[in-house]
Amino acid sequence: QLLMERDLLEKLSITDPVTHLHNHRYFQDTIKIEVERCKRHQRQLSIIMVDIDGFKKYNDQFGHPQGDQLLKLVAKVLLSGLRNVDAICRYGGDEFAMILPDTSVADTFEVAERLRKTFAAQSPAGLILSLGISGFPDHAQTAQDLISKADQALDQAKNNGRNQSVIAH
Ligand code: GH3
Ligand code: MG
Repeated sequence: QLLMERDLLEKLSITDPVTHLHNHRYFQDTIKIEVERCKRHQRQLSIIMVDIDGFKKYNDQFGHPQGDQLLKLVAKVLLSGLRNVDAICRYGGDEFAMILPDTSVADTFEVAERLRKTFAAQSPAGLILSLGISGFPDHAQTAQDLISKADQALDQAKNNGRNQSVIAH
């Protein structure tokens, strides 16, 4: 009984309650471990940061429960598009983060574009996504810098007019 409760608590501590994806904490822990692993074994790794475009307006128009349903739809699309070794996390708010081990930036861009189009094809009210991509060792040498670079790329996707994937530089 105690062991089962401990396992459940452990799972809850790394799970986002709305989408059932991994949470921010899990993402931070995992990306550090993955970057260290890649350094040791001279492997590459990419991350994708995803943000829903105009989600605030959707919430205002359709209400928070409907907004939560939309977050679940994004989670479903992200899960459907990736292998099970990839970590898929809710970063916070309407932002999601994914870790793709042993995946080049070019391949990750293809993945991001596929996810963006898959979501656009089934999202209600014409909702769309912006995505930012960064890779180790191409753009950064540490987990924090990798996240910053992907965040900057995501900002650029927003500034360029949204509904697109942008690679860090
Ligand atoms: P942008 O196109 O620049 O991304 O703007 P945006 O309207 O998507 O707004 P922004 O990303 O700045 O803010 C995210 C919004 O997501 C704010 C809030 O209304 C909504 N939100 C955050 N967390 C939740 C949640 O758990 N449930 C629901 N329903 N909405 C949330
Ligand atoms: Mg948004």
